[in-house]
Amino acid sequence: MANEKNCIISLQGVSKVFDGTTVVDEISLDITKGEFVTILGPSGCGKSTTLRMLGGFEMPDKGTILLNGQDITKIPPYLRPINTVFQRYALFPYLDVYDNVAFGLKLKKIPYEKVDRKGNKVTKMRHLTASEIDKKVARALKIVDLEELENRDISTLSGGQQQRVAIARAIVNEPEILLLDEPLGALDLKMRKEMQLELKEMHKKLGITFIYVTHDQEEALTMSDTIVVMKSGEIQQIGTPKEIYNEPVNAYVANFIGESNIYNATMAGKYKVRFLNHVFECVDDFPTNEKVDVVIRPEDVILKKHKKDETEKVCQGVIANKIFKGVHFEYVVMVGKNEIIVQDTKEREVEDIVTIDVDPDNIHIMKKDVTVNTYSDAWINKENKVMISEDPFDCDITQLLPDSHIDEEGYLVSKDGKKYDLNDADVIASVGLNDIEIIDGYDNGQSNGEIVSIIYKGDHYQVMVRTEEEEDFIVDTLYSWNENDMVSVSIKAKDIKLVLKGDISKYEIKD
Ligand code: ADP
Ligand code: MG
Repeated sequence: MANEKNCIISLQGVSKVFDGTTVVDEISLDITKGEFVTILGPSGCGKSTTLRMLGGFEMPDKGTILLNGQDITKIPPYLRPINTVFQRYALFPYLDVYDNVAFGLKLKKIPYEKVDRKGNKVTKMRHLTASEIDKKVARALKIVDLEELENRDISTLSGGQQQRVAIARAIVNEPEILLLDEPLGALDLKMRKEMQLELKEMHKKLGITFIYVTHDQEEALTMSDTIVVMKSGEIQQIGTPKEIYNEPVNAYVANFIGESNIYNATMAGKYKVRFLNHVFECVDDFPTNEKVDVVIRPEDVILKKHKKDETEKVCQGVIANKIFKGVHFEYVVMVGKNEIIVQDTKEREVEDIVTIDVDPDNIHIMKKDVTVNTYSDAWINKENKVMISEDPFDCDITQLLPDSHIDEEGYLVSKDGKKYDLNDADVIASVGLNDIEIIDGYDNGQSNGEIVSIIYKGDHYQVMVRTEEEEDFIVDTLYSWNENDMVSVSIKAKDIKLVLKGDISKYEIKD
């Protein structure tokens, strides 16, 4: 991490709002001199906007940007010692390689000292001489490995070569910081891999700070000293590639970085966590019954051949798919309805029964901040109720199709008169934590359960009600309940959000 002395750029609570939407939300970030920093996140998360604020092309609505400790928030782009390489290289097609790179230098003026007639020293501005320009261009072209091509027309170059010209043009001004906004996005995979290594080399040779933007996690992992993971305008995690990969702070980061197995899990006791219908030993200690996310890397799953006379309780699965990946096999193993992706060097066959083990150190547990109850195995019954945990809940199925209504036979009818029979349709149902009512005693609501945990959240309780089918309702409530209370839950039809799995057309009644 940057300290005050070697920190070149500091973003302090920087926000940007477009049309009333906050696209960069109070981000703070210190970048060390000479570092290769990558801002990583999905499309639309605010990466380019952040970079454009660093470059001076966009003004923050809130916050401060410091360069070497000086406030540059309001300084225009051309006065910042920062250059940008964009995805679309924007070269001049009618100039050759040399002139494209030299273009900025020909306009540039530098200060020099002169003695005037009265014998006083004065500072004047002058253009660079042809030989000065020559030297700088040659150096830049050498760094991007294009010395031989300086007289070529831009249009005769490959995409990779053109992008190198764009980089040469940016570094010829000897900026302290180079901003690169998905500079390899327009290249094919092979070219991109090559350029990744070359950029890394260039970074070493130049010794300047690179701030790189990409949505490609592999690119970020191979190139960066530091990765900044962004989501919806907010920084999720800052760390070395190793830290981000091995210690993701939440399921979002884990999911974004590399292939992972992620499960909803529940703490089953001290250093014990339950998922895949099995209790695993782990090294994290969270309160019993706390909902957590578990992340397991495919390379950390240990498969063993299932022995028939095995007495101790094991986690057992069956191999559903096998792909050879060069150095290892990748298997999809089904454990009940859950799948787990496994990398293993030993060859196994589809339909083999295996036991699954994970070293406690390799079970990464992250506290879950549940914001909504999601039931992804829900379905609609013939009374147009939604089945959650084997119990019917009243709901509004017209939300599955805009401007629809239900006719007297119970079919869903679209505004142009098409009829749909949603009996048995699979849906994802979600319910807010504030939208579930807990009622004392069994059979007073729509579903019954037992209170398995109560967490005090400062101004309310978060209570978990578990049904016999092991479905959980998480409820924010002002009332304090007791563990093991037998209760019912009730949800208003309007508070159940439904999303259909698959297309509605398959439920259309054609007569
Ligand atoms: P990323 O580079 O991560 O894909 P951007 O920073 O380009 O994301 O955009 C973040 C969000 O801000 C997007 O929703 C985008 O549509 C919006 N946005 C970006 N620039 C503008 C602009 N000039 N005017 C309005 N909205 C913008
Ligand atoms: Mg972008």
